[in-house]
Amino acid sequence: MPSACDACGTTGTPLAKVSLGRDFFGQVYDRLTPTSDRSPAWYCPLCSEEKRMQLDCRVIREAARAGEGSPLAAPAALERARTRLGEIAVRLKDGGFHGKLLPMAEVEALRAELENPPAGATP
Ligand SMILES: [Zn+2]
Repeated sequence: MPSACDACGTTGTPLAKVSLGRDFFGQVYDRLTPTSDRSPAWYCPLCSEEKRMQLDCRVIREAARAGEGSPLAAPAALERARTRLGEIAVRLKDGGFHGKLLPMAEVEALRAELENPPAGATP
């Protein structure tokens, strides 16, 4: 087991592997993750949470750009994604994260994308 967080380099705190498990839409993660995520890194508690939020953002972004057949085509799923991104923005702002994994600008861009879907993306 490594002694330093793979994201921020913190030492002396318990490290955990982020379990990829299922994604925001309940799908198995490997469907979307690049090969770099197949060997999970070790993270300190803060970076673990940031990593989880980063993964949710990534899956939501993929869905937002998937066009027809996107999981976000369902209004309830779109609403849930917007809510989750709102929560993530609040956590990022107040949580004291290192910001190595998920920059706030990325979250804000994604929120804007969901508020203004490209023409034809909504039923
Ligand atoms: Zn860390």
